[in-house]
Amino acid sequence: MSQINISEYGGTIYGVSRETGHSVQDIINANNGIDIRRISGDTMINLPSNITNVPSEITNITNSITIQPGETLYGLSRKHGVTVSEIRAANSTLNPNNISSGTKINIPKKGSKPKPKPKPKPKPKPKSAIKQQKLKKQNNAKSSKNLDDYSSNKCKCKPVVIIDPGHGEIFNKYRDPGAIYKVGKKVIDTEKDIALLVSKSLKAELDNLGCIKSTHLTRTSDKGKEKRFVWRINKAKAVNAEIFISIHLNANDNKLAHGSSVLKHKSPNKKSNYLASSISNSYDHMKKNRGIKKQSVSVLRRFQQFKKNTAPACLIELGFITNSHDREKIKKDYNIIAKEIAEGVKKYVKNYHCK
Ligand SMILES: [Zn+2]
Repeated sequence: MSQINISEYGGTIYGVSRETGHSVQDIINANNGIDIRRISGDTMINLPSNITNVPSEITNITNSITIQPGETLYGLSRKHGVTVSEIRAANSTLNPNNISSGTKINIPKKGSKPKPKPKPKPKPKPKSAIKQQKLKKQNNAKSSKNLDDYSSNKCKCKPVVIIDPGHGEIFNKYRDPGAIYKVGKKVIDTEKDIALLVSKSLKAELDNLGCIKSTHLTRTSDKGKEKRFVWRINKAKAVNAEIFISIHLNANDNKLAHGSSVLKHKSPNKKSNYLASSISNSYDHMKKNRGIKKQSVSVLRRFQQFKKNTAPACLIELGFITNSHDREKIKKDYNIIAKEIAEGVKKYVKNYHCK
């Protein structure tokens, strides 16, 4: 039985399971029935001694790299598209529990899995064929009860949505970047900017749904002028918003903390409950979905009050800006994330808001 530190595998038993090929249950059994909910991101655990998916013939080493400060085997495995096990197998003398920057290690070639063949591009169809296909689609939609069909003429109502990119406030000398990611003293990323990036993309997605009357942003750059929160709610009032979605990123001293969550105010109305669960179900792009949390959230409370508690409001924590995996994924995949959130809004509008 060998021992590993789970922080090298993303900080969870699931990460260990995925990277080593051992089932979660086997790992639990090898650790005297360890309670996986109580595991912290920096725990030594036993690996079961049965088979692992460590490939036996890793001979095609591509390059040898030097570990940089802050890098982990897990991070390297993600970066190079190989598993931690494969890196370990390619470095027989390496002690995975004592990785220090400056150490040289071998990075094996990407797994020997055959790549799926690229799909051939469909040939452009003549116009008449496209027309026929459209007709066919329309007929299908009519005959089968396609719940996801959301062409505009089928909307029972079309709410106005306001998206609130968190932070970014300038009020007198006060500046609010939200959570930040720094290297040394240099600020690399701010919550306000990443939230705005995703919010703009979400606006575009919602505008395309056909079931939203209009979508607005509380800010399109840094702004403020009025007291905290007031300008956000004033903007919601000005456009007569009926759905309020605030976009934020989480932060934690523990860099391993990761995953997305959806917050609703501690005394949510029914519509907020539905909106939160609909978004939480569809926004599942991070490695971990931490679910829905009730919390005292001033901006949500103010919106609910302004709407006399008849309209939904929720806040999405996209992921942790302090976790490198979450941070890079959000910056890279902001369009996918916006699509997933829009999908949740669509389901909410269709199945609940307009009923
Ligand atoms: Zn925030």
